[in-house]
Amino acid sequence: MRALFRDRPLGWRATGYNVVVMLPLKFFERLSCMYQAQMMDPWWQEYDKKPGPRRALALFAGQYAYERQGRARSYPHAAYFAIDETPTLNGAKIWEAFRGELHGDRPNAKLNPLYHTGARCNCVCCVFAGDGGVEDIIEYAMRRNRCRSRA
Ligand SMILES: [Zn+2]
Repeated sequence: MRALFRDRPLGWRATGYNVVVMLPLKFFERLSCMYQAQMMDPWWQEYDKKPGPRRALALFAGQYAYERQGRARSYPHAAYFAIDETPTLNGAKIWEAFRGELHGDRPNAKLNPLYHTGARCNCVCCVFAGDGGVEDIIEYAMRRNRCRSRA
């Protein structure tokens, strides 16, 4: 950490018990590289090993769908494994598998992206459903140039 600040001007202002530290923007740039290498790249590599609708949906649920304040820390992992290990991409079966992954914890169904209530509901399986089943949302986004291709 100290090496990050060695040649950077830091502004310190201490008032009473409050200390304000001004961090250079370069700090966050370097931090984003570490975040990408540790948190994002392993997930993308999993998709690259076996691309398709299942991995795309699991990646979406594991990385994005549960990014909200107040959710249990176990939900993204439970969602990823529920999708990855359920034989068919069926909303009801995935919801059942998700609850099984939680080992008795009872998630708030109304705030849960995997909660399936019936055909054309708001669960991620129904939202990403196309004519032939669940769409590969990563392939779809790359085809439409809605996200950058990965190097
Ligand atoms: Zn549904």
